[in-house]
Amino acid sequence: MSPGNLAGGTESASAEEASSCALATPAEPSADPLPTPSRPNPGAPDPAERSERDRRFMALAQAAAEKARAAGEVPVGAVLVRGDEVIATGFNHPISGHDPSAHAEMAALRAAAQGLENYRLPGCELYVTLEPCLMCAGAIMHARIARVVFGAYDPKTGACGSVVDAFANPQLNHHTSVTGGVLEAECGQALKSFFADRRRAIRAARAAEAEAARERGPAEPV
Ligand SMILES: [Zn+2]
Repeated sequence: MSPGNLAGGTESASAEEASSCALATPAEPSADPLPTPSRPNPGAPDPAERSERDRRFMALAQAAAEKARAAGEVPVGAVLVRGDEVIATGFNHPISGHDPSAHAEMAALRAAAQGLENYRLPGCELYVTLEPCLMCAGAIMHARIARVVFGAYDPKTGACGSVVDAFANPQLNHHTSVTGGVLEAECGQALKSFFADRRRAIRAARAAEAEAARERGPAEPV
């Protein structure tokens, strides 16, 4: 993710957040390192069933996003799924990680690839609460992810159609299908509340500083 105007700021991360990604129960390493053809949402061809499944995994991505919020980071979360198994989770942590690439998708991709000991993740689906940015779209392509499902659209830096559509370019991508807007309102609200809280905190700090300055009175002439 890259929330564009939603991002930035000077909030510090919680020191207790040492790790940004959690590898779920590792699955057997893939026997076939070669990319497999894109097959959207394996195992759930029915649209209603697929929607319910998408919401279920997106809810897990939302839970991961809350870990980012707890660490003072912009709340974006991701889960990497193979079949009905969650391979890995990740949350946004560029500030605490001193790492501009530490988006939720990257954390989940790294954890899954290391867990499976395979730099390709064919047949996997990535659920993320915010539309991926160009960096993450590139990593998703390199990993040969079969399908990306995201929640809120990002009109500033979204690379799945909002600003550019990296996955629509056949010269770049032959592997990944994209579904956007799953639990869109809920995922968007998490971001809005985070930035509203931050704006309130900034206003309160400024008011406290102004009050302290009033109490000190006018500065003595030197
Ligand atoms: Zn990103």
